[in-house]
Amino acid sequence: MKKYFPWAYFGKLTITLFVTLEIMCISVVLFFRQTINSTSIVQLLLLSLLNIAISLFIAYRFTLPLKKVIFKAMRLANKKLYYQLGGDQLSQDSIYQSEPMEFSELESYLDQIKNKLKNKSVQAAQGYEESKTLMSEIEDAVVSVDQNGEILFFNAAFASQFIDKKALSLSLNSKLKLSLVFRKEELVKLFEEAFINKKAEKVQLPIYTYLNEAERVFSISISPLKDKKTDEVFEILGIFHDISEIKLAERLRTEFVENASHELRTPLTSIIGYLDIIKAELKSGHTQSTLDHLQIVDKGTAKLKSLIDDLLTLSRLENKEPLNLQKLDPQMITEDAISKLTPLALKKNVTLKYSSHNVSAITADAAKIDQVLTNLIENAIKYNRDNGLVEINWSLSQHGKGFQIAVKDNGFGIAPEHQKRLFERFYRVDKARSRDIGGSGLGLAIVKHIMNMHGGTVSVKSDMGLGTEFTCTFP
Ligand code: ADP
Repeated sequence: MKKYFPWAYFGKLTITLFVTLEIMCISVVLFFRQTINSTSIVQLLLLSLLNIAISLFIAYRFTLPLKKVIFKAMRLANKKLYYQLGGDQLSQDSIYQSEPMEFSELESYLDQIKNKLKNKSVQAAQGYEESKTLMSEIEDAVVSVDQNGEILFFNAAFASQFIDKKALSLSLNSKLKLSLVFRKEELVKLFEEAFINKKAEKVQLPIYTYLNEAERVFSISISPLKDKKTDEVFEILGIFHDISEIKLAERLRTEFVENASHELRTPLTSIIGYLDIIKAELKSGHTQSTLDHLQIVDKGTAKLKSLIDDLLTLSRLENKEPLNLQKLDPQMITEDAISKLTPLALKKNVTLKYSSHNVSAITADAAKIDQVLTNLIENAIKYNRDNGLVEINWSLSQHGKGFQIAVKDNGFGIAPEHQKRLFERFYRVDKARSRDIGGSGLGLAIVKHIMNMHGGTVSVKSDMGLGTEFTCTFP
């Protein structure tokens, strides 16, 4: 193992001491003896040897503490080198106690520096851990980019959403470029511009992610990180906040208001129109058709009322009206709904058939389940052929852990492309026919909402021309 010793300092000190001693000795000899004879030359040589020994000893004595000071500083600066040069063999604490005051003071200052550095490095390590945990816990995607557009850091949310594993493996030895991650030039440019403008930016952009097939909308904050002294931007931090759900909710709300106004305006326009006709008829005395026209007005107001009722029901459900859960007899609630709808069934001569298999009681909100049954049975009658059949059956659910009710008809059926969207608000397969029959397009949306509130589901199976079956499953 290499051993460290400040040889240069030791050498210079020895020579200086030796020269000083020699001059002193020669001066003394010359002063006392006047001439130097051969015996005194031998004596002078002996004296020189003694001077060398004394110089070596004194130089060593003064170099030793210097060696220790250098060692201590070395330990602060470069631990590896310190141990390579045999630093482990030195006692690490208070190595100058036996040395002069100045060296002890120096040691104490070095120790203070060491402690300060230690505290700083502990703080830095804790800060690093904190920010690492924060970044990994944060749901938003975070990335930092340097001046060359190379990624310095990204969190897990960024990796899972935007980083193609192939691109990552290709750039294992070099840094990943932001332009390789985002094919959107507009976005890469925003990062580049932030370096030049030194200003924070906030934009909304649709971006494809690896988690979804469709584009998602992100609110992106781009912040330049600057050196406080020079005001130079050394890094750009990008935070990607997914606002797709908010955007979707905004869109649905606007669509809903538009649809609701349209649905309300249609019967209202007809009512106003027919009331004008009736007024004119009454004025002119030509009242042969007035009764028919009044019936149209009557039908229109009934439609309006049913639409407003459905809108209010939906609004109450969306405001998370609490469930009034109680034990219910399935037969009783089903028979109640059937008896309410029997007049409608009689009009089309549709037969309503009820059966139950092993379901004696369910825990649910009576009024809401009545609404589910009414909407489903009413649809099964409305969208059925004349003389059709509607079967209502309670049974254990397929995996045996809950109950289900199925409402099956042998009516027109629903084409597969419509089945997915049936539960959307105001969605109607055949708008003209549905409006004519008196539907608001909200019935199935209400059913789905109520089932979700009960922790259950609703599904549909249908064959064109053969009929449709809606199944509601309770947990
Ligand atoms: P509506 O008030 O128009 O009946 P719903 O939300 O109850 O609204 O139903 C949405 C659409 O689904 C209806 O317009 C109709 O086209 C279709 N539908 C619902 N139930 C049936 C069924 N049993 N058979 C055929 N089509 C149906």
